[in-house]
Amino acid sequence: MPEIPPASRPQPRASGLADPALVDVVLPRHLYRVFTYLVPAHLQSLVRIGSRVQVPFGHATLEGMVVKLRSRSDPVLNSKGRSAGSHPIRLREIGAIADDTDNATPQELMTLSRLIAEYYLTPWGQCIRLILPGRPAGKPPARYQLTEAGRDLLGKTEGLNRLSPTCEALLVRLHRRPKGLSIGTLRHGASPSLTTDLSLLKRHKLVLEAAEAIQPSHQRLAVPSGISHHEMGSGVALPFIDQPEDRHPVSTMATAWWNNVLTAIETRRPARFLLQAPQPQRMSAVFEAADLILKQQRRVILITPEISCAEAFATGARTRWGDRVELFHGGLLPALRHERWHRLQSGTIDVVVGTRSAIFAPISSVGLICIDEEENSSLKEETEPRYHARDVAWMRAQLNAAVVLLGSAHPSLETMHVFDPDGCGMPSEPDITDSAVATVSQEDSREIHIVNLRETPYGTVLSDPMIAGMRTALEARAGVILFLNRKGFAPALVCRECGNTPQCPQCSVALTFYKQGGRLACHYCATSRSVPDTCPTCHAPRLQPGGVGTEAVEEWTHRLFPQARIGRMDSATSSNSKQASSVRRQFLAGELDVLIGTQMLCQGEPALCAEFVGLIQADAGLHLPDFRAGEHTYHTLMDAIAMARPARSGGRVVLQTLLPTHYVIQAVVNQDPTLFYKQEFAFRRALAYPPLTHLISLRVSGTGLDRTRQAAAYWVER
Ligand SMILES: [Zn+2]
Ligand SMILES: [Zn+2]
Repeated sequence: MPEIPPASRPQPRASGLADPALVDVVLPRHLYRVFTYLVPAHLQSLVRIGSRVQVPFGHATLEGMVVKLRSRSDPVLNSKGRSAGSHPIRLREIGAIADDTDNATPQELMTLSRLIAEYYLTPWGQCIRLILPGRPAGKPPARYQLTEAGRDLLGKTEGLNRLSPTCEALLVRLHRRPKGLSIGTLRHGASPSLTTDLSLLKRHKLVLEAAEAIQPSHQRLAVPSGISHHEMGSGVALPFIDQPEDRHPVSTMATAWWNNVLTAIETRRPARFLLQAPQPQRMSAVFEAADLILKQQRRVILITPEISCAEAFATGARTRWGDRVELFHGGLLPALRHERWHRLQSGTIDVVVGTRSAIFAPISSVGLICIDEEENSSLKEETEPRYHARDVAWMRAQLNAAVVLLGSAHPSLETMHVFDPDGCGMPSEPDITDSAVATVSQEDSREIHIVNLRETPYGTVLSDPMIAGMRTALEARAGVILFLNRKGFAPALVCRECGNTPQCPQCSVALTFYKQGGRLACHYCATSRSVPDTCPTCHAPRLQPGGVGTEAVEEWTHRLFPQARIGRMDSATSSNSKQASSVRRQFLAGELDVLIGTQMLCQGEPALCAEFVGLIQADAGLHLPDFRAGEHTYHTLMDAIAMARPARSGGRVVLQTLLPTHYVIQAVVNQDPTLFYKQEFAFRRALAYPPLTHLISLRVSGTGLDRTRQAAAYWVER
């Protein structure tokens, strides 16, 4: 995790420049450099560092952020980043300040965005998107696009002759931008007749006005529009609130660990702690620590990987702190996000709960950041800037002298590497003390029965011990959960004649067979096609399912237990968190006897619980071409068995596998984490993989082959 040198910590605002004549602005584009603009006289007393300003950029108007105030005499860099020297360049003026001065973006967040740009080798311009409030409420700006008829007309001289020159220029301009241009952008360099020209072109159906596309949500479980997250959250309670007997006072958990947390909070020292415990205990500890921070007049950020968990978390927090709590996550509609951003920024909110983007919540005096389920891969952003909320939390904690609590029942290798270096023979990091890890003794171990699928008849989906376990639980009406991390009916169709499988032409992976929908679909690019009657390679009519997915498990369960009420939860049946939550509630209320699903079962609220849990093929994810495949499988299986009641309460687990001796399977079956961590660290060290090294993916792209090749070779040599 990144350590921040003291020089990067925020400096008090330079007071020498009361009325700056020039400002440096970062723009939300893929740009590494800043741009210098003139400040018109009437804005000079208003502009400050962190102000969001409208600036002309090429033909467009962009909202950027002021990062530096300058006097007239400062040297200005030209477009090549060199000093303009004796050849002054013509500067353009900022158009307007988008916010009043009290609403400027906190300087701490600007510093954070620059640290992220440096750490992840990303243009600063991309990183300021993370800390901007988003679009305000109201109608989104319209975009204008060329219609089919408009494109046709551009090719015909006789048609164009009937248009005015300004209309023709407008069509040519729109033709260059297939995605269209906003009215704000069109106004730059346009003729005074722009509005009349546009309405004329619209009337002739040459140009159409489209509502601006809503920014895609990066949240994996998108929430349907129009649903307030506040409403969805109500009624979902954390398990430990329902069951007071499950409360675990922190003081009895791990005294040395808790004392270290207290000391860090009292002395206001940046520090990280790992809280390795089941979820209810983690929540108790986090809430107790948060209480102490709030008493110091400091603020708290609580982050979980899933929106539904954040909502449940927020509900729990509101019972304690009422209106001082606010939800803030990437699934909010832009207008709502904008409104919440300003509420947080105004200083009335003391506890922010959200998913990974909440790490950029615009609040000051942060004293505690909690990252729950820190091993979850949803905490990593998949698009540029590819930040990890756990690492950004530590950057932000160092800027604020705050405490970071990393919560997990089975921590990531990255975190174990920091907190338990003995496992990989590395020296401790300086801020980590011996008792930074709280491990709660696991009285609630599970009873696990392992079935070697190689000793069962070929093609067995449900083995005899599995069927027996299901029958017992069904007769007792105690709930059956069947887990298989493969959606569809089968992961592939296989030709019995030539052995080939239909593949995705773009991704070169086998297409998943969906029997109920009668389709083949690609997991990566979502390409889908109908099921062919014959093999695409040899044309023999002998395509058959190879392997099993959740649909097949459902079919087998129905065949064996025709009376049972069966539900399925995977991305084909529950495409958003609301649908998934409603299936969870149905199962917990006893309206379903059997619930079959992928890892979606383990993610989200309310958490599932059953007397019997069956793992159909525990090794399903182990062969994926990813150096983290073993770790992902371990985390998923640990979450899956945690859905069974503890053995002392009558819970049972049957685990089917083709690889009963694999270290991941052995660690899960024996419930011995060291079996997993020791072996996995040994592999990572032998192959020089993270967390023992850093791994970056560097793509070189360009329009000229030779030049691109040279650039790639240059990077290889460096
Ligand atoms: Zn074939
Ligand atoms: Zn594909």
